[in-house]
Amino acid sequence: MAIINSSKTDPNKILPMQYMWARQHYKDGLSNNWTPEEVSMQKDVEQWKSDRVLNADERRLILWNLGFFSTAESLTANNLVLAVYNHVTNPEARQYLLRQAFEEAVHTDTFIYCCDTLGLDPDEIYNMYQTIPSIKEKDDFVVNITQSVFDPLFTTKGTENIQKFVRDLVGFYVIMEGIFFYAGFAMMLAMKRQNKMIGIGEQFEYIMRDESLHLAFGCDLIDTIKVENPDIWTSEFKDELVDLIRQSVVLEQAYAHDACPNGLLGINAEQFSEYVEHIADRRLDRIGLPRIYNRQNPFPWMSQSTDLAKEKNFFETRVTEYRIGASLTWD
Ligand code: FE
Ligand code: MN
Repeated sequence: MAIINSSKTDPNKILPMQYMWARQHYKDGLSNNWTPEEVSMQKDVEQWKSDRVLNADERRLILWNLGFFSTAESLTANNLVLAVYNHVTNPEARQYLLRQAFEEAVHTDTFIYCCDTLGLDPDEIYNMYQTIPSIKEKDDFVVNITQSVFDPLFTTKGTENIQKFVRDLVGFYVIMEGIFFYAGFAMMLAMKRQNKMIGIGEQFEYIMRDESLHLAFGCDLIDTIKVENPDIWTSEFKDELVDLIRQSVVLEQAYAHDACPNGLLGINAEQFSEYVEHIADRRLDRIGLPRIYNRQNPFPWMSQSTDLAKEKNFFETRVTEYRIGASLTWD
């Protein structure tokens, strides 16, 4: 049996299982449970309303990231449910996709919560994917890569179609969730390290923990399809994927410069650009493609394990400790 195109797969029979990695990702996803309301935004609201804490550059950076993520999360969820779920018929992989879809709903909810608590104009934030060119270009890029899979007549039969499907998976899992999210993660976590907007920073930490699992699942899915369909992995196709990743890095660097044109205390767009190259190499490694940049990680603090145990108990009644031993290393 195979993960796609198996006429023997009955999506209703989850046992016995074939892909234990999918099961493990599902379980890991469950143990990461969280909701945005568990994070206090009190201090963020004070800082946002005060004119003495955040300068214009910091405000721009926050708005750009809220603008990008607020719509990128639903774009990702739509691809997952409308394209990926259709073609991956293996039941344990589908069980993970359902979990991931829920997490994307939580992420969408996070940005609703941030907009609400900070009193931002939803028309401004939710239109930024159309009005801010550096955001629009990222979204257009993944949408273009993945368009053919949305054709209602599309099937994954035949080498060329399987390549189209893998291109979609690379577009969303590797490029969107694995590259386009990461300059934003680094920016918001850099702010948090300076004690600015720590509530949003913590929300981004939870999202990043989820996204590193999504990325791991996506890469395992891509690798499995490769192993089961070795014909697709031609040198032309590999070159094409490397080239897409190279183009996405350029777009992410343009975004970093646009969101953070003058740098923050001790951190600038050059370093965000190096960071994007560093993580792009890691993504290339993970799916068996050659590295491009060989860049050192300028932000070693991004890969340190972070303790997200929920012992904080902001509101007494809302203690939620879903995970036992919550320290976690992420990409
Ligand atoms: Fe997400
Ligand atoms: Mn995701």
